[in-house]
Amino acid sequence: MEGENHANNYLVVNRVEVLTENCNCCGGGFVGGPGGEKALVAAVSGAGQPYFFCASCGDNIMGRIQSEEARKHYVWDWVVPLKQTKTPVQPG
Ligand SMILES: [Zn+2]
Repeated sequence: MEGENHANNYLVVNRVEVLTENCNCCGGGFVGGPGGEKALVAAVSGAGQPYFFCASCGDNIMGRIQSEEARKHYVWDWVVPLKQTKTPVQPG
């Protein structure tokens, strides 16, 4: 299955890490345009892996959070697609 075209690889800009999953809420992909899309990162202390949510889910979540204390666990970041269509020509 190496010819898969829909490998969901995104670069999380500020966290500087590669994200290989879709939105943890709706399961959809993150990037709406070539320039990328904002994403909500939930850093749950003690849970290890942070959760990532797409822009619409993130807006929804943030709209529901009432307490400032809870908000501290969420931060907006930016994700850009890592597409394989522009693979540099390899020497040799
Ligand atoms: Zn979502």
